[in-house]
Amino acid sequence: MANTITLTMIKPDAVEKGFTGNILKDIADAGFTITALKLTQLTRSDAERFYSVHRERPFFNSLVEFMISGPIVAAVLKKDNAVEDFRKLIGATNPENAEEGTIRKKYAESVEKNAVHGSDSDENAAIEAHFHFADKEIYSFL
Ligand code: GDP
Repeated sequence: MANTITLTMIKPDAVEKGFTGNILKDIADAGFTITALKLTQLTRSDAERFYSVHRERPFFNSLVEFMISGPIVAAVLKKDNAVEDFRKLIGATNPENAEEGTIRKKYAESVEKNAVHGSDSDENAAIEAHFHFADKEIYSFL
């Protein structure tokens, strides 16, 4: 699929450890174009809303606390087949199960503090891009 988008967040663990530059380089080297980018911090209600699909899961409160614990980097990424290719680039949710060379294998410390988010469908990518960015902040022509 030509020129589809995905939404990523570099999570607080990876930002805090100084991995932002390396992760953005891995993303660019894999052929993604950054069309929106910001360093920001989620509020509790932002994090609860972003992860509302997981609100019944036992790890929900812990996940929310982690996601608001420090700044994140949010970005919209463009590429052919963006959602699927980005999920391949980041690897499995649990870094112990992630393939060598994937972003989570390289930079994540646990199943929760797993360095990056990637959208799981084209529909959610559009919702998540607009969760973080106004239309005018997404430079779709790039
Ligand atoms: P993803 O699509 O690979 O990010 O995984 P999910 O959508 O299933 O989970 C969302 C996020 O919740 C993950 O990226 C982790 O940060 C966290 N998470 C997922 N599973 C667990 C778990 O079993 N325990 C904890 N503590 N956090 C989890």
